[in-house]
Amino acid sequence: MKAFAFLLVLITAFAAPSASAQVVSAPLQKIVTPVDPMVMATDDFTRLANPAIWDGLSVNRIEFREDRAFWRLYRIVNLRHSDGPLWFVPHDNENAAFQAAVFAVRSYGGVVIAVEEARSIDGPDSRMNPDVAYGRSIDPNRNFRDDTPNYAATILADLGNPPRLIVALHTNEPGYSASESTCTPPNAGYTGKGEISVLLCSDLYSPRPSIRAAWPYDDTDSVAIVSYLGDRSPASGFCARPLSDADMNIMFEHVVTSDGSLSNYALFRGLPYVNLETQDRGTDPVGLGNARSRLLAMIGTVMARCAPVEGVAIRPPEVPVRTQAPDKRKKRR
Ligand SMILES: [Zn+2]
Repeated sequence: MKAFAFLLVLITAFAAPSASAQVVSAPLQKIVTPVDPMVMATDDFTRLANPAIWDGLSVNRIEFREDRAFWRLYRIVNLRHSDGPLWFVPHDNENAAFQAAVFAVRSYGGVVIAVEEARSIDGPDSRMNPDVAYGRSIDPNRNFRDDTPNYAATILADLGNPPRLIVALHTNEPGYSASESTCTPPNAGYTGKGEISVLLCSDLYSPRPSIRAAWPYDDTDSVAIVSYLGDRSPASGFCARPLSDADMNIMFEHVVTSDGSLSNYALFRGLPYVNLETQDRGTDPVGLGNARSRLLAMIGTVMARCAPVEGVAIRPPEVPVRTQAPDKRKKRR
């Protein structure tokens, strides 16, 4: 593993001296197309067809093939304030997450990368990418793998060095499947489903429910997921203590081997990463607005508690406070 890591550093050093040292990129044919968000026919853009929303934002479509998959992403940049977080929306059917990302990039700057599930342009969106040459559909949040390095490199192309904060945004099914949990369900007839909730306990997740359970945490599916490495404590996760102090609903994710998600990819590379979730409330304007508001409230907390002070890079977990000049710092893992 050490030899492999050393090899990665070597490859990165020779192939892309100006790129982030933590993301390896291989040669890739990308098609980048500027798009006008006001005339886009896909549902995410149609719902936000208001020129005031897009003022100061640029939108590009990025398309590429890797291995058996064709990928289509949207990259949205705040032109006046491009140095904010990387807002990542991997699942095209999680519509409030897309809206929260667009609102957040306006408020806090940075870059949005959203995966477009391009096959179902006329039908309901899917969580998965079915645009594959063969085999099963691919979960865009399980494709951060060593054998498909271009995918991670393309999504994280704006990361920079030192890396910017990554905020992943999701919506999820109401509640959780009680049969999957070692915690007692809230009541005997509990009928939740899915696997994201601050009520869920498992080998993977240990919950830290909000004590006050005030909005947005009255919804037990409105949670921050904070990952930590197998041999460490939950408090070692990125921004774990400040988010606990803010009384968020938190699911601590205990990671031993990577599942191909961006959270695990970021954890093993010491990248600053927070994952925010809320219950999916459908696509009518009230439901979308409700879910979007909850995500934006959590984003506000993350930006207040975990975001960098201007000119100071965010430190990844478990890296001690440094007093040396930045150019004398050692390389991170
Ligand atoms: Zn998702």
